[in-house]
Amino acid sequence: MKTAFVREPSFISIEETKKLSLNPGEVLVQMHACGICGSDLEKVFGQYGQPSTKLGHEPSGIILDVGSKIIDLKKGDRVFTHHHVACYSCHLCKHGNETMCKKYSETNLSPCGLSEEYVVPEWNVLHGGVLKIPDSMTFEEAAMIEPLACCVRSWSKFDYQEGDSAAIFGVGPTGMMHVMLAQSKKFSDIFCFDVNDFRLNFAKKFNVSETINSKSEKKLESILDKTNGQGVDIAIVATSSLKALEDAIEIVRKGGTVMMFGVPSKDSKINLDMSKIYSKEITLVTSYAASDKDTKEALQLIESSKINVKQLVTHTYPILDSQKAFDHAKSGENAMKIIITR
Ligand SMILES: [Zn+2]
Ligand SMILES: [Zn+2]
Repeated sequence: MKTAFVREPSFISIEETKKLSLNPGEVLVQMHACGICGSDLEKVFGQYGQPSTKLGHEPSGIILDVGSKIIDLKKGDRVFTHHHVACYSCHLCKHGNETMCKKYSETNLSPCGLSEEYVVPEWNVLHGGVLKIPDSMTFEEAAMIEPLACCVRSWSKFDYQEGDSAAIFGVGPTGMMHVMLAQSKKFSDIFCFDVNDFRLNFAKKFNVSETINSKSEKKLESILDKTNGQGVDIAIVATSSLKALEDAIEIVRKGGTVMMFGVPSKDSKINLDMSKIYSKEITLVTSYAASDKDTKEALQLIESSKINVKQLVTHTYPILDSQKAFDHAKSGENAMKIIITR
């Protein structure tokens, strides 16, 4: 079977890997769809903080085989599989920081999600890491469960009210999920920033208040106009760009929240006027990955059509064309979510 790895910067190699055998409690899955995430792009093209050769953590597929212990999963089940599953009993888990749990980062799919077949470890199988998907849900939609779950988690980290305003910096696939989440929570004004015209035009179709090119000089003025000079309640930075983070801090209202959602490059630094952060009482909050509670919520949001992720998938590539798919995702040219299929 074929598996994609990153062995050297910018280069994806498709390697023939051994057929996988199963231990009791494990599940073998035939991958049908696996999204490319910003963190995958960081691994291939950037300097990701946590070096790894593994690509693809958003896979969905069909169960090919189950280890002997498992009773409620069977061959032929259509599933989404979460690559990391926390212990739910350590100090961090008890404080709601499941994605910081040691077990969370130790668990993983083998060899990885970007593989024709992969094994889900027993821990994940037994602790909510395998979710059956309804027949009505496509594999592409199921591959969006993980990124949507990351967005859902970030929304649990700040307070908001109906009628609030938000600025979303970076309207790629997750940025657009944030747009849809804000709409589902009845936000009154949603401002979208990007440097990519395709994405700005894409966002326009969602009836957002305004789409603004981040390169424009007067980009922040109209927001101030539309919010009585106040600024937005919530600014979500769904890009690795530190410039966007600076803009977010500039445009958030007094007492507002800046959510750092995009993955910054390793060692990236920023020059902040801390007196402004202090005197404006700005809350800077980060959100890393998703727990199983979040993946279940994301699945329900997709199943109930509350969040329509289907419209975000603009391209699919077979696994053999992973390099092309990654190059395309990196350029972002006329693309939102790019998904690898079998
Ligand atoms: Zn992801
Ligand atoms: Zn834990």
